[in-house]
Amino acid sequence: MPDSSGPEFNINPQARALPYTEIVRAKTDHLYPKISNLIPEIEWQLHAPYIAAINDLKKEKNAVILAHNYMTPEIFHCVGDFAGDSLQLAKEAARTDASVIVQAGVHFMAETSKILCPEKTVLIPDVKAGCSLAASITGADIRLLKEKYPGAPVVTYVNSTADVKAETDICCTSSNAVEVVEYAAREWDSDTVLFLPDQYLAKNVAAMTDVKIITWAGACEVHERFTAEDIREMREGNPGVIVLAHPECPPEVLAEADFAGSTSGLSNYVKEHQPRNVVLITECSMSDNVATENPKVNFVRPCNLCPHMKRISLPKILSSLQNMEHEVLIDPLVIDKARQAIERMIALPLTRQSMYTHERAPEVFAIETRA
Ligand code: SF4
Repeated sequence: MPDSSGPEFNINPQARALPYTEIVRAKTDHLYPKISNLIPEIEWQLHAPYIAAINDLKKEKNAVILAHNYMTPEIFHCVGDFAGDSLQLAKEAARTDASVIVQAGVHFMAETSKILCPEKTVLIPDVKAGCSLAASITGADIRLLKEKYPGAPVVTYVNSTADVKAETDICCTSSNAVEVVEYAAREWDSDTVLFLPDQYLAKNVAAMTDVKIITWAGACEVHERFTAEDIREMREGNPGVIVLAHPECPPEVLAEADFAGSTSGLSNYVKEHQPRNVVLITECSMSDNVATENPKVNFVRPCNLCPHMKRISLPKILSSLQNMEHEVLIDPLVIDKARQAIERMIALPLTRQSMYTHERAPEVFAIETRA
């Protein structure tokens, strides 16, 4: 399994530019215990000056930071005002009365925040923080698919651009994908649904429903790297370990897992079951962040980092707030159409999270690609 972890992701050399002073110590000492089992004191002294400066600036500018579960712990626990998966963050964005939102996550998440609260200033600390799934498909691709499959509703994963959401009937997350697909089939009176753009999530949903699914050849470059063989090796090396997998992984990986669910589903499983040993088959910062809230659980940590998420660092967040950059701007017409697709999903009275237990073969009807 590729392991892209390394000091370059944890210690940003630019962090040496700000001194660790007594004032900084006084402002940040209360935060260190949250992450002291993950970050050694010598490294903390590099982060703390940035944490103090960011937290001061947030008050001055009436700003909040939305921190995705895949952020590194010093961001997630020490400057994030709200934490969670992309949809939880967007909902927080809509609720907050702050006038500035800094998205500690990737670009499509910042777009989702802007769609749900267009009157606020939304900043992304690094415009290159992209996503292999979001980059795999465009609004033009969806328009062609609609011509090819007239009448089939378009269900789009929230990991997509504003342009794509604007061509969508209803969005979904991995927490509600199965229920949204079945709702869309009923509501649009169709036995077929276009489920875009994640082919693996589509197959994992297909294993849970009779609805015929047509998907797109997109994939998350982090989750698609896990293999069934990785899981078997982990079990051999860690007898009794409980394996929890994210449904962006290929179906053969989920077939080897004890439980599969969304980011919040995995986190809830650990909280409720408190397994002695657990491995989360997902982006590796997630294990760090869940571990701090579950000190009695031992985490086996395979490491597949998302290079896009790891573009976001404390120095870049500080620079973003100081210079009010990089502002996310979206055509108002696109915002209106995209918001409808997100709001339809939010309005659904869903009572449970999607389960991924492979009740049927994980087969989709077709996997489309750009011609
Ligand atoms: S982990 Fe995968 S889905 Fe999430 S931002 Fe990175 S590439 Fe995209």
